[in-house]
Amino acid sequence: MSASLSTVSYIGATILFILSLGGLSNQETSRRGNLYGMIGMAIAVLATVFGPQVTAAGIPWILGAMLVGAAIGLYAARTVQMTQMPELVALMHSMVGLAAMLVGFATFIDPEASKEFTGAAKAIHEMEIYIGILIGAITFSGSIIAFGKLSARIGGNPMLLPGRHWMNLAGLLVVIWFGREFLNAHSIDEAMTPLIVMTAIALLFGVHMVMAIGGADMPVVVSMLNSYSGWAAAATGFMLSNDLLIVIGALVGSSGAILSYIMCNAMNRSFISVIAGGFGTTSVKPKASGDAAQPAGEVIPVNALETAEMLREAKSVIIVPGYGMAVAQAQHTVFEITKLLRDKGVKVRFGIHPVAGRMPGHMNVLLAEAKVPYDIVFEMDELNEDFPDTDVAMVIGANDIVNPAAQDDPTSPIAGMPVLEVWKAKHSIVMKRSMASGYAGVDNPLFYKDNNRMLFGDAKKMLDEVMVALEA
Ligand code: NDP
Repeated sequence: MSASLSTVSYIGATILFILSLGGLSNQETSRRGNLYGMIGMAIAVLATVFGPQVTAAGIPWILGAMLVGAAIGLYAARTVQMTQMPELVALMHSMVGLAAMLVGFATFIDPEASKEFTGAAKAIHEMEIYIGILIGAITFSGSIIAFGKLSARIGGNPMLLPGRHWMNLAGLLVVIWFGREFLNAHSIDEAMTPLIVMTAIALLFGVHMVMAIGGADMPVVVSMLNSYSGWAAAATGFMLSNDLLIVIGALVGSSGAILSYIMCNAMNRSFISVIAGGFGTTSVKPKASGDAAQPAGEVIPVNALETAEMLREAKSVIIVPGYGMAVAQAQHTVFEITKLLRDKGVKVRFGIHPVAGRMPGHMNVLLAEAKVPYDIVFEMDELNEDFPDTDVAMVIGANDIVNPAAQDDPTSPIAGMPVLEVWKAKHSIVMKRSMASGYAGVDNPLFYKDNNRMLFGDAKKMLDEVMVALEA
């Protein structure tokens, strides 16, 4: 492929990626957005593999590597459970970080690559390598720890070392000093020591940074690592002089940063506090997810028949899905019930919290999969005011996102996080298996409110029973 055709393909791919991001911002256009992204990526890969930067001898190697990568990716995509998606995403971010690190080292020790640069251009090229490896290493180790935390292989409690901010600052100063050493080195061998020391510090920093982040702040970390992986890709693009990689990396990096900011707002967190770690953990230590909460009054259990009766008598219902709906894979039954109720003239709407589930947009994806019409799915802010005029708020496998302690208890680890105010409805029904706490490990006073009812059991099983009762 000629250089000009490759450039035109890169421009086409870039436009498709921008259209893709635009499409993904809205549920109705998200399928189209995905399609643009896939076409853009296919063009990008073809234009790179058959472009002027790759020699004919390299093509079989690349195709072989692509086959292995595609097989692993296909296997992972087919076998991963929806509830494991955040872990998979974290693992994929770690791959981007690892790739940036490896490309950095390979580019540095390749005598052919460095021959092209002299004088100031050489210094800039080496700086790109140094920064690329730095971002790559932080992304790699941070994402591995995020994977461990999200898959419960590592505990969710923040690890708060004494003087941790000073340690981070000292690490940064050492990295800057070794950067100077690296740039002043006269040979590859001489430069290798500062490069390796910096990589080790960056790896440790990635571990330390994510270990210090409390369970409730993990959503922000996932999107922050997404952003880092973008900057790591952009750095790789600089090292390889590949314009498309720079553009894509910048798109991912900046969209991830914007998403992190939006999520921080949604959770009433300051971005800096989240990154610094340990936010909101001074008063109450979060319990491990699944621990039983301390009783704080009486709960009123109901069965499926009673739930069906309450729904049948309601004029308006708001359904609030959470992580438990994903675990139970109850979204299809939820929609069946929605259809039944709507046929009976009940106004049914869905309320989606920005951090419901375990990844941004988790609930929207599940509801879209079940073909729930988009026009009855609302963001938290759009219907929080409507709860007082709602007969039944049905909470399906959600916990933290409907916890009134976020508003009422300033000592709560989730204090200040905006929540769906389901307790303001005439009745709320919480569907979950036990009195266990949610992801943040916090007791939920909602369960003990007079107007709340608890429907204990697996969400799918209980909803099936509710549906049978509604049909009868
Ligand atoms: P939570 O984790 O707070 O609560 C989920 C509840 O679902 C649990 O209390 C559990 O109770 C119940 N549950 C689990 N399995 C089932 C089942 N099969 N049937 C019925 N119920 C079930 O989830 P929320 O969605 O309310 O809140 C999300 C939390 O996750 C927030 O704290 C958020 O910060 C965090 N988070 C969000 C991410 C994101 O990007 N969205 C990423 C990482 C974390 P029981 O065991 O009694 O059944």
